[in-house]
Amino acid sequence: MSRNAESTAFRSALEVIRAVEPRVADAIGAELTDQRESLKLIASENYASPATLLAMGNWFSDKYAEGTVGRRFYAGCQNVDTVEALAAEHARELFGASHAYVQPHSGIDANLVAFWAILADRVEAPALKRAQARHVNDLTEADWFTLRRELGDQRMLGMSLDAGGHLTHGFRPNISGKMFDQRSYGTDPATGLIDYDKVAAAAREFKPLILVAGYSAYPRKVNFRIMREIADSVGATFMVDMAHFAGLVAGKVFTGDFDPVPHAHIVTTTTHKSLRGPRGGMVLCGPELADQVDRGCPMVLGGPLPHVMAAKAVALAEARRPDFADYASRIVGNAQALAEGLVRRGANLVTGGTDNHLVLIDVSSYGLTGRQAEQALLDSGIVTNRNAVPQDPNGAWYTSGIRIGTPALTTRGLGTAEMDTTAELIHTVLDRTAPGANADGTPSKAKYVLDPAIADKVSRQAGELLTGYPLYPSVDLA
Ligand code: PLP
Repeated sequence: MSRNAESTAFRSALEVIRAVEPRVADAIGAELTDQRESLKLIASENYASPATLLAMGNWFSDKYAEGTVGRRFYAGCQNVDTVEALAAEHARELFGASHAYVQPHSGIDANLVAFWAILADRVEAPALKRAQARHVNDLTEADWFTLRRELGDQRMLGMSLDAGGHLTHGFRPNISGKMFDQRSYGTDPATGLIDYDKVAAAAREFKPLILVAGYSAYPRKVNFRIMREIADSVGATFMVDMAHFAGLVAGKVFTGDFDPVPHAHIVTTTTHKSLRGPRGGMVLCGPELADQVDRGCPMVLGGPLPHVMAAKAVALAEARRPDFADYASRIVGNAQALAEGLVRRGANLVTGGTDNHLVLIDVSSYGLTGRQAEQALLDSGIVTNRNAVPQDPNGAWYTSGIRIGTPALTTRGLGTAEMDTTAELIHTVLDRTAPGANADGTPSKAKYVLDPAIADKVSRQAGELLTGYPLYPSVDLA
């Protein structure tokens, strides 16, 4: 594809938008400038390809397509069928899954689809059988009442939030915490690693219906073979949320015991993080759960987004190319270079390093909270996010950690040498930032003191680091 074609496509699109609401066109242009100029280390973000972005901006957005391929509740879905079937086929081939459901609008939605598929299979189906009913509508009021209570009385075991688990794995602020009686497994306080014996003990004691693995802030691999054995030993359904590391599975960096697909009953993911696709979600499973998963809409999802499914098909096709495996291994190489650079300069990392795409810095050794560190880094042109560390004394709002990840900068082409420079910039900012005080002199968990001259200098250096690696080099909006 020529650079000209991509520039023309985006420029023309902006012209059309500008004619209706120029402020939207301006904001879209400004977003590109901001993304180009910032050192983006947010572990959950990436830069989708121009083809993926363009596949989303079209008339597929106008189409209703409830149902599944070839079995819709609306007429005229033949073209939606084409893109949904293509996205599912690419997903199956890429991950070696027997079934792929590509309709979820996001990771949260994919998890909800999975939870309700498991509940339908493990709780609702046996209840229908007992009542000799084919459909929930055939149940008596009394049987329906009993089933509703049973559905709301199930157990889930997942990773604790401060060990790096995700809110959607049964925590109270999310609907999963309201649906399930949840217990969590943490990490070993000495090593920061998952202690599989402790997970097994918790599973034996709690007897969950669902055992969940997956994380948003755990910098190590998870052994899914062992987790499956634990699930089997207590009759639990084993679910893996690979939202963060799907790109590493797709790129064959995580294989064998570390590839969730052959081990889990059901796998959920986002498509926009390390997988580098459009903002969205996906569910993979075997034939046992396929029918229930396909009922995701209208069970918990609104109508499918055909334009996003088209973009998923494009991005998944890209991920099947050989260069994606190279990209995935560079993500991990860069994360390890970043971790080593930080450790060499005295930073304290949760687990001491990484074997995936993310690094978690415990900034308490710099005397800072995560909130102070996040803002000081942002002032210096470095975009990260604060994150709790295991047994965090500062809770989930202020936190004691900074999570950084390499999928986005790796897409731009930065390599291990640039990661070392990045480690130097991060360390400089954290080292030169001091905690601030409230107006009454008491210590603040949010305020901080950083000499603006240092912030400016680091910002300039971050900018220089990026100049050799332009973002969307094929897109010129001028
Ligand atoms: N699952 C995990 C492990 C995540 O890290 C996230 C997002 O951060 C989600 C699910 C939710 O994804 P989304 O924001 O697309 O709903």
